[in-house]
Amino acid sequence: MDRIVRGYILPKAGNIHVEEISYIEGEEMLRKYEEVLSNIISSFLNTRKIDKIRSGEELYDLLNEIVVTIRWTLYLDPIPKVIPSPAFLIIYLIRNKNLKLFSKDTISGLHETPVIEDALKRSVEYERLREYVMDILRYPADTRYGANTSSLLIHMITTSAIASCLLLSRFKDVKDIQNMLIILRLISLFHDVGKFNMREWHRHEDKSMEFMDKVFSEYVDGDAKKLIDDAKKIMRENTGTIMDIFREADRISSNIDRLVRYIPDMLSEKVKAELIECAGKYGRSVEDAYRDWKFWDFVGYEMIKKLTEDFCRNASRIDSRNPIIRAEVELKEDWKELKEILVTRFDVRGIQNYIRVNDLRSICGASRIVDFTCLVSIPCFIINNLKLPAECILYFGGGSITVVTPPDKVSEFSKLCSEAKRELGLNIIYGSSYFHSSFSIVNYNIDCELMRRKILEDEELNVEPNISYICDFCGSSRVEVLDGNREKVGDSLVCRACRVKYDVGDSIYLNWRIRRVKSLLSLNVDLDKLKKYVMEYIAGVKYESIEREYIERYPNIALIRFDANLASLIMMSCTSISDAVERSIRIDYSVKKALHDVIDYVRNKYAEEYFRLILGIIYVGGDDGFMLCPSYIALPLTIHLAREFNIQMGGKATLSIGIAVAKPKHPILELYRSAGYLLDKYAKGSARGESVKIAGGSDHKFYGSLAFYVADGGVMTEHVLDHVIDLVGSKRLSLMYDEMGKIGSYMISSIQEDNSIFRLLSIVFGDIDIETFNYRGLMDMIINSINEKQRSGESDLHNRLTDIRNDALDIVKKTLFTDDSVKVKIIYAKRQSKRLGHRYIDILKYLFSLKEMRFPLHDLLQIVKIVGGGIE
Ligand SMILES: [Zn+2]
Repeated sequence: MDRIVRGYILPKAGNIHVEEISYIEGEEMLRKYEEVLSNIISSFLNTRKIDKIRSGEELYDLLNEIVVTIRWTLYLDPIPKVIPSPAFLIIYLIRNKNLKLFSKDTISGLHETPVIEDALKRSVEYERLREYVMDILRYPADTRYGANTSSLLIHMITTSAIASCLLLSRFKDVKDIQNMLIILRLISLFHDVGKFNMREWHRHEDKSMEFMDKVFSEYVDGDAKKLIDDAKKIMRENTGTIMDIFREADRISSNIDRLVRYIPDMLSEKVKAELIECAGKYGRSVEDAYRDWKFWDFVGYEMIKKLTEDFCRNASRIDSRNPIIRAEVELKEDWKELKEILVTRFDVRGIQNYIRVNDLRSICGASRIVDFTCLVSIPCFIINNLKLPAECILYFGGGSITVVTPPDKVSEFSKLCSEAKRELGLNIIYGSSYFHSSFSIVNYNIDCELMRRKILEDEELNVEPNISYICDFCGSSRVEVLDGNREKVGDSLVCRACRVKYDVGDSIYLNWRIRRVKSLLSLNVDLDKLKKYVMEYIAGVKYESIEREYIERYPNIALIRFDANLASLIMMSCTSISDAVERSIRIDYSVKKALHDVIDYVRNKYAEEYFRLILGIIYVGGDDGFMLCPSYIALPLTIHLAREFNIQMGGKATLSIGIAVAKPKHPILELYRSAGYLLDKYAKGSARGESVKIAGGSDHKFYGSLAFYVADGGVMTEHVLDHVIDLVGSKRLSLMYDEMGKIGSYMISSIQEDNSIFRLLSIVFGDIDIETFNYRGLMDMIINSINEKQRSGESDLHNRLTDIRNDALDIVKKTLFTDDSVKVKIIYAKRQSKRLGHRYIDILKYLFSLKEMRFPLHDLLQIVKIVGGGIE
């Protein structure tokens, strides 16, 4: 073979379901993999200050570091060069096995400057290798259609996880189990490496052993060397207990037995008929032929490509037309659970409550702690306390982590939860399921148990004795007395959890970021002054004004919250565990990639805007995020996020966005809640239908939904929002409404759609649409105009915004004595456009042809305030 096909169920950017990989690319990947591994091994030896790996224990630890480095670093840094991904911190914890995992000292300690600096340094060093790993992920685990949708690298790692669980369940009383485990991991992690040489695919073992020699021989000695030799010997002999377990795990992790059974039904009728014909010519049934690799040589490359593409298209639908979902029902009677492997999901509950602290620094710390717990503390618990291989940690999602373990470990899980509760005030619950060949059954069981625990736990919630002082920060937990003292931050008495939120926030929020950006951009700024006016600065006040401590105008700050629509459904429709692992990486990557684009662009062009963004990003990871920025860049920024996320997710997933805009003095917590309310109720509420269509395979261009609100003076709360939205909605002056069970908001979609955000934006910026949207052009226009306005008091864009506002207000105010209907306003706008021209023409052109007789002038006025940045 000189080329093979990789299939993507979740299509790659550009709606690509199939990709050709050439022999040369495969060879190149193997070389890259070797470089990645040798980098990890050197780092391991350097930190331990040893020249060779000698004991079995060292070899075991090295395998953990290999897996952790390769897998965790695929979760990108939230802010490149400034805030490292917690992923880079996990190495510290697995190297220091004695540290208490959930303690406030450990977590604060890992966020102190030297550690963060070191993690960032490692992240930068590793950048090139991470690109390598991303590239290697493209190589498929199998050459047959269907099975070629998994990545070989991920497949090897999940195989090792499953093999380890099988071994530890079956042979837990065997004396030599630790050495068996090391050998089994070596075989699972390296047996198939030879497949990167596609010409030798079916004789890959020799190549794999050669690779192991190349990577390890120089660095191992003594027992470690002997273990590697034993692993190679077992691979060569190809029999025995360990080999049997490996083969079994290999089948389970690729889900091949199940795939073979339902795979023909995953094809469209026409393609399926062609496959049956091929199998007929070959003289076998489709099922038998599928298992026979010579059949695939007979079938040929083009046909495999066609089958792969067809399979992926059908499998990518997330509704009942998807044959996988149908197959689950049809194959119900065959469901067998595997009681030697337990799949468990840990879920952090009440994240919103946890983050709800009345102090931006602590909010930042709290978000970080949640992220850190999922990406670092819980995995370390599995690795250090339960002594399971790092491979057993499968994947992360917003506030959750999924692992596989031998079933007897379940008794330890409650320790983890109670420690996290006691030390950090975090509510973690878990749900488990025995392993199933059907991933959706596993999910179903886990969800049921999580649900049950939620209900049980809610009943216990009110038992906290209310006998002592309640924390000033969160207003819900008790302040403990330790050695006669109560914990304090400044003059406030705080609970243990708020103390650590504050400390972590303090380390990674202002001081660190300001110093970091200062050195990145070689700026000369006064740390204390900037800290004092941080909200004003993020909103867009020039540093010169802050330095003089004289702020003439207060611009608008935007608090943005976003998350992916139907992310859990995307995860639920996975065909195998490897598929799930890859999807979780894709989701996280797609969100961060979109944000990094913007950060990179402004860094190179607008130093102050870059600085504001860096100070404003509070949390981003998994499928959601939360940030502050000047309101004038909020729209290009969020539309880009949604569009790019959708592109990176192959058009299969969309974002919802809530934007709350106010003056910088607005209470931060209320702003946070309001943005959340706009997001959950309006944006998500109205996006559901469209998201389902997209998931179902519709080609309809829809990128996400957006709800926004600008508070003019006063305080924005959920209550105020509902009130105003009701009022404006009932006058039909807004597309954001909640009437008789129907919820409206703006869609990031073609301007042809009545509720497209581009209708509003086209009035401000001239014709723009989703296809021609370019955040760079818009940001240039806006930022230059803001600068010009602040310099000379005037700018073209601001003049235009003023015109739009005046004309829109004129129409809004137009009523007849007895009639305040939209109709009156439309007739009036028509007359004015004929008489005066002005912006009346654009307003009519873009806002008039709206369904349900709405004339969203109120939204237009808000857009003017958002884009103008509140600098009048
Ligand atoms: Zn508290």
